[in-house]
Amino acid sequence: PYPHYDVIVIGAGAAGLMCALTAGGRGRRVLVLDHANKVGKKILMSGGGRCNFTNIHCGPEHFLSANPHFVKSALSRYTPWHFIALVEQHGIPYHEKKLGQLFCDRSSKDIVGMLLAECRAVGVAIRTRSPVSDLRLGAPHWLSTPQGPVTCSSLVIATGGYSIPKMGATGFGFDLARSLGIPVRPTRAALVPVTLEGRKRRQLQDLAGVALDSVTRAGGAAFRENILFTHRGLSGPAILQASSYWQPGEPLEIDLFPDTDLAGHLEAMRRERPRLTLKKLLGEQLTRRVAQRWCELWLPDRRLEQLTGEDIRRIQQACQPWTVWPDGTEGYRTAEVTLGGVDTHALSSKTMACRDHPGLYFIGEVVDVTGHLGGHNFQWAWASGHAAGQHV
Ligand code: FAD
Repeated sequence: PYPHYDVIVIGAGAAGLMCALTAGGRGRRVLVLDHANKVGKKILMSGGGRCNFTNIHCGPEHFLSANPHFVKSALSRYTPWHFIALVEQHGIPYHEKKLGQLFCDRSSKDIVGMLLAECRAVGVAIRTRSPVSDLRLGAPHWLSTPQGPVTCSSLVIATGGYSIPKMGATGFGFDLARSLGIPVRPTRAALVPVTLEGRKRRQLQDLAGVALDSVTRAGGAAFRENILFTHRGLSGPAILQASSYWQPGEPLEIDLFPDTDLAGHLEAMRRERPRLTLKKLLGEQLTRRVAQRWCELWLPDRRLEQLTGEDIRRIQQACQPWTVWPDGTEGYRTAEVTLGGVDTHALSSKTMACRDHPGLYFIGEVVDVTGHLGGHNFQWAWASGHAAGQHV
């Protein structure tokens, strides 16, 4: 008695739209529902408005998950090159920025426009401002929407994670999974700036805006990228990456002299440029402002000729690495992604289908798969959306 679809996708983000256009391309009758007033809001804001839509080096090693093997099947069947082919087919200009990261030349709108055009071409229906107020699994599944009840054979959950609630993020997928007895791995904000406790924060506050090359380590992972001082703590790509591996109560180890043995360098400079002050020397790598603050706070600002071997050992100990104990993160308000989510053990890695609930699928960020910075999260959204779209 109710309008029936082969496939209903909840969430018109990256994964949901990819799933819809794939299923539509196979002749499935598809409806996409989103509670927000427009589709793909995170795509629009991503990559500083230019959407870092994939990474040509994307592989399983760029993902965190309780089961690191889970991503392999979907990633190998829908690679960055598949998505690049689609982008090129639509004549969207793009460029590589660094480290294999591909960005739109013009705007993220190109990517949303492309996904919508692909959906339109295969007859996918998309409804915004359509929260699902009630849902019963069965054959068929039954959903209550503002336009009335609808039914479907396959239901795909693509509602993403908690990050940026202002953009319409909700815990819908996590809550639904829990209500069905599907395990959800603990969630927390990731790819997120860290904050420092009051005293440390005040000591470093006026360095806000300074960026420095680093190797930043946390939880066994290391990232060679910039750190950025902020008014409340630290950000920049190295810190965002490390935040995904950082646990509260643990330190970040930040080497601000990545290609240098600092002690050896200081000893050599003590011989070659003895009249130079430590502040001046460190400033060559750390910028004048940071070197000045380091010397005020932690280091002896003397001429190099006045440094003893013990001084040099202490300086290296304080700087290589610089050990920082964050008191937290900026949280979901600014996090790019949510770590954790629907336990992959409950899903098929080939199809994203729930093992215990026929015709139910989870794709994208709602799943316990979190990518590194640099286009990997979108590649997971495309690949998992495609995997489900091939099966629904
Ligand atoms: P989303 O894209 O978040 O889509 C979820 C959809 O579900 C949304 O449209 C939402 O409105 C809808 N929804 C939520 N709850 C409900 C509900 N209860 N009912 C109905 N609909 C609901 N990744 C990259 O790879 N490259 C980048 O450059 C990049 N930049 C980013 C920048 C920012 C600021 C942020 C926040 C993230 C960025 N990411 C980036 C991460 C990337 O955006 C996500 O990993 C990706 O969007 C996840 O896709 P998804 O489809 O699973 O979820």
